[in-house]
Amino acid sequence: MASSSVCDVRWVEVAAVSSPTPRMRSIVLTGPALEGFALQPGVIAPHVAVTIPSDDACARQSRIYSVRRFDPVALTMEINFVLHGGGLASGWAERARPGDRAGIAGPGGLALETVDRYVIAGDHTALPAIGRLLDVLPAGAGADVFVEVPDEAERQELPSRAGLSVTWLHRERGAPPVASRLPDAVMEATPAGGSGTVAVWTGAEQTVARRIRSHARQTLKLPSGRHSVVAYWKAGVTQGGFQCYD
Ligand SMILES: Cc1cc2nc3c(=O)[nH]c(=O)nc-3n(C[C@H](O)[C@H](O)[C@H](O)COP(=O)(O)OP(=O)(O)OC[C@H]3O[C@@H](n4cnc5c(N)ncnc54)[C@H](O)[C@@H]3O)c2cc1C
Repeated sequence: MASSSVCDVRWVEVAAVSSPTPRMRSIVLTGPALEGFALQPGVIAPHVAVTIPSDDACARQSRIYSVRRFDPVALTMEINFVLHGGGLASGWAERARPGDRAGIAGPGGLALETVDRYVIAGDHTALPAIGRLLDVLPAGAGADVFVEVPDEAERQELPSRAGLSVTWLHRERGAPPVASRLPDAVMEATPAGGSGTVAVWTGAEQTVARRIRSHARQTLKLPSGRHSVVAYWKAGVTQGGFQCYD
């Protein structure tokens, strides 16, 4: 069998579509092209580039999505798409039906050191990654989790073996990123000079991610293995027009 790199696109089919909440679409992808796909050990929130099909091969574009679940035996991958009302991938997910095709490349993602306590913060787009992250945290780990979604209807169960404190925050769809309560929540949970070994994980809009990254680096002085703060999207900018990891 020919070897494949993370940049190769694997063409797969939509096997099932469901709506865990009104503004989230869960899509299960499957196909023989997923053979050999593997999630790297230690990467707690893996992601893939999803290529949205187009009749014009030159016009195809990709967007980054977290792998919510992957089953290497059944060859199924579940991805959860936020329906944000305007965007190539969001629109595709809203219309997707079993039998539709999409491309997958990757996976990518960062590892975090094992620590006493994790502070995990994310908006709606990070909820799939947070769900997976909490699936894999070991029993005995502690995590303070802050999730910001548009309203109560978007909350999801977050099972974990780890000891969790989960706080749901609400920011209306269309409210500016500056209205996010995530930075204050993270700062209150991780005051300068706090005790114990902590790691901070965040996925959020770019302005929000920048504030949390600056707190993790400048105030807490966390080394790179103890923070992963990623811009998942940027208000007013199509993905590809901004840096996720700046
Ligand atoms: C590592 C990583 C993992 C990610 N995992 C997920 C995931 O599991 N599920 C998920 O839904 N998203 C996830 N995202 C975010 C997703 O890639 C972006 O939201 C992406 O822009 C969506 O593409 P689109 O084609 O729908 O919109 P684009 O064409 O990229 O953008 C069109 C317009 O929509 C706006 N926009 C984009 N996203 C949102 C949003 N959420 N709310 C409001 N406006 C928005 C943009 O600012 C732009 O103005 C992840 C991003 C990264 C970097």
